[in-house]
Amino acid sequence: MHESLSTKLIIEHQYLFRRMSVIECDDGWFNIVSNMCSELSNIQGCFFQQIKESHGRLVTQLIGPDKAQCIADRYRELSTRICRLCGSDGEICHRGIQYQTLCYNHMIENKFKKGVDITATCNGCFDGLTSGHMFFLGYVKGQTQRLVVGINSDRYMIDVKGVEPMYTQEERKSGLLNLEIVDEVHTFDESNPIEFIKKVVPDMHFTGAEYIETCAEKQACDDLHISLKFVPRVGKWSSTKLREERKNEDRQV
Ligand SMILES: [Zn+2]
Repeated sequence: MHESLSTKLIIEHQYLFRRMSVIECDDGWFNIVSNMCSELSNIQGCFFQQIKESHGRLVTQLIGPDKAQCIADRYRELSTRICRLCGSDGEICHRGIQYQTLCYNHMIENKFKKGVDITATCNGCFDGLTSGHMFFLGYVKGQTQRLVVGINSDRYMIDVKGVEPMYTQEERKSGLLNLEIVDEVHTFDESNPIEFIKKVVPDMHFTGAEYIETCAEKQACDDLHISLKFVPRVGKWSSTKLREERKNEDRQV
């Protein structure tokens, strides 16, 4: 933390800082550390041994009663939602075994500096690309550099969904890859994209806004610190529905 900020805290809470004088985290967490100090300064005999960032969290080692540790634990949890650099809303991002809590802008900037692409995933049948599909894919690509799409296999569509696909999985895959905005396509047999997501481990996963309540992959995204995002539905989306509508129209004619 910048010296001018840490000095302010140290002067204000001298007893807490009697055994240490360097706060080993970035300026974005100044408010968290400051609020934690205010709470802890009310507890007698409590002082810090170390304050540092570790695995994207604010870790505080202190001497003091259990309730002091409880307060420090609460601020550790809070730090996983605040950008360590600027203090705005953030989330834990990962790169291999490295974790840090950043806002979206700093995550992008950080990766950009390292020359690492931001990866996003989404999934669906994509059986005959509709204008809705195009909006959806364009929306996702607008927020990422590398777009990896998961598609349901023919086996899933026939055996589980009970729908004969208009196009085979190979045709659907090459159709998507022909779009300049799609970088990779994976095919999966499962009824949800959890295994696909675990394999790719993207920075963000996108799904339709109608799945906010029922999203099967939410837990997996939380566990892997993948940001789950919802896309508003615009235009005709489902190719299955479109086909049914066409059939009905044909019957009416
Ligand atoms: Zn930030």
